[in-house]
Amino acid sequence: MEYLEIRKQIIEACLWLQEKELVIGTWGNVSVRLDETRIMMTPSKMDYNIMKPEDLVIVGMDGNRLEGTHSATSEMDVHRLIYAQRKDVGSVVHCHSVYASAMCASGRGIPPILEEMSQMIGGEIPITETYINAGSHVPLGLAAAKTLQDKNAVLLRNHGPVSVGRDLKEALICCQVVEKAAKCYLALCAGQTPELIPDNMVQSERKRFLYQYGHEH
Ligand SMILES: [Zn+2]
Repeated sequence: MEYLEIRKQIIEACLWLQEKELVIGTWGNVSVRLDETRIMMTPSKMDYNIMKPEDLVIVGMDGNRLEGTHSATSEMDVHRLIYAQRKDVGSVVHCHSVYASAMCASGRGIPPILEEMSQMIGGEIPITETYINAGSHVPLGLAAAKTLQDKNAVLLRNHGPVSVGRDLKEALICCQVVEKAAKCYLALCAGQTPELIPDNMVQSERKRFLYQYGHEH
């Protein structure tokens, strides 16, 4: 089977999200960019515990299914339109983690309060401008991509977070950083004004993470 290793990694990612309680049921989806024209993603409404490598779906950048017997995740357009806009993104993960969902319902993005946010996300986590229901696939995808800009995470208003990364592993860690940031921010909001990381320091830390991390002596 083509791309067997990537298929297995996506299934493992789904089980990991479930174990970390970042998703409830099948309200989460994972995708990986295969090449310039194709994306592999989780099928719609399938229990992760019974998902097999052949259940994953390959779609084109236009959303047409190229391979697989199931429908792609109903949030396929969120994934597809982010890949179309961001050539640097190799993986997109959407989950419904609890604290990030609370921030999605607050109508506010999460300002840069943790160093991991500078490194993994590129600073603040923005939120889409208006609530768009999950059934409005293309408008939701367009809003997600537009709001994301060059960041690695975005909050879908009244819905849940979307995290991206250069690869699947990075997108998954990004989900954890988003959830941690939301948790800390909500804790601080109990009567405290958080100290924000200045923009120049967000940028320098982001650059260090992208280009120097692991190469320092
Ligand atoms: Zn969702």
